[in-house]
Amino acid sequence: MSKAIGSSFNPDCATINPTQLVVALAKSLAKRGVHIFENTFADVSTQGNVSVKGKSIEAKYVVRAIEAYHEKNREQIPIYSLMIATEPLPEEFWSKYGLRGRETFHENRHLVTYAQRTSDDRIAMGGRGAPYKWGSARSNKSEQHAKIHKKLRETAIQWFPDLRNYQFTHAWGGAVAIKRDWAPYLNWDGHFGSFGGYVGDGVTLSYLAANSMADLILDKKTIRATLPYVGWKSAKWEPEPLRWLGVNLGIKLSAIADIEERITKRPSFVGKLIEKLF
Ligand SMILES: Cc1cc2nc3c(=O)[nH]c(=O)nc-3n(C[C@H](O)[C@H](O)[C@H](O)COP(=O)(O)OP(=O)(O)OC[C@H]3O[C@@H](n4cnc5c(N)ncnc54)[C@H](O)[C@@H]3O)c2cc1C
Repeated sequence: MSKAIGSSFNPDCATINPTQLVVALAKSLAKRGVHIFENTFADVSTQGNVSVKGKSIEAKYVVRAIEAYHEKNREQIPIYSLMIATEPLPEEFWSKYGLRGRETFHENRHLVTYAQRTSDDRIAMGGRGAPYKWGSARSNKSEQHAKIHKKLRETAIQWFPDLRNYQFTHAWGGAVAIKRDWAPYLNWDGHFGSFGGYVGDGVTLSYLAANSMADLILDKKTIRATLPYVGWKSAKWEPEPLRWLGVNLGIKLSAIADIEERITKRPSFVGKLIEKLF
């Protein structure tokens, strides 16, 4: 990675192919006789009453696992993470840049980045920076934020200058859920369960939270059923316009803190302000 001034390595990291994960999970559940209803929007009340197209659904247990697709209130906010991917890259690229073990990596910026060499030899890379929308609104437009996708492509080329010679073939995005204290939550009342707030730690954390939820439903006295997120209460986000101002200021300041560090080569002063802000 060009211009890196240091690095750290953690071997305990893995990649998954999300489509394969979902398809395999669905197949395994189907084998056990579980019915999956796709493209079915469920209305769930805070007491766990479920209805579909106005018809109520009877269920002994209800689990709401919708992460960022939450109703618009002050409990959590959706923040968009955007991604890009290159065309499959040839061996000459990889012999120069490494990543032979398909290590995942990121640049330790204030404005989060993350990347990996995919199983079909692309660089897939993502990052934050898309603005927060008033009232915690979600929109397809936020998933296709041209300016942020362009910035991500520029960052990828900064890291690996040879990427200039290759095509970026994909650009997409989605929302992650953030609670006011950035902590995940899991609630269970014996009938209704809900969990989420995973920010970017989603895949591992959603798996762990699902195991905790299963243990709670089955009344198993395990460590997983008592992890700190069980019953965790976060403060609410501020009402608008404070929320809009604060979150977008945080995003802008993060970008400024990165520029500051690039120039001064010292931990950012603005970075400390951001910590105070949140
Ligand atoms: C661009 C991007 C990159 C990411 N990169 C990483 C990464 O590198 N590593 C990592 O660990 N995590 C990453 N994450 C986070 C991770 O994808 C999520 O945290 C994880 O998918 C959460 O899993 P989940 O099952 O709780 O929720 P989701 O995967 O979001 O699933 C929720 C499902 O609920 C459905 N739903 C919502 N409302 C309703 C309703 N009313 N009725 C019926 N169905 C409904 C939705 O359609 C959706 O299918 C990334 C997220 C994004 C957006």
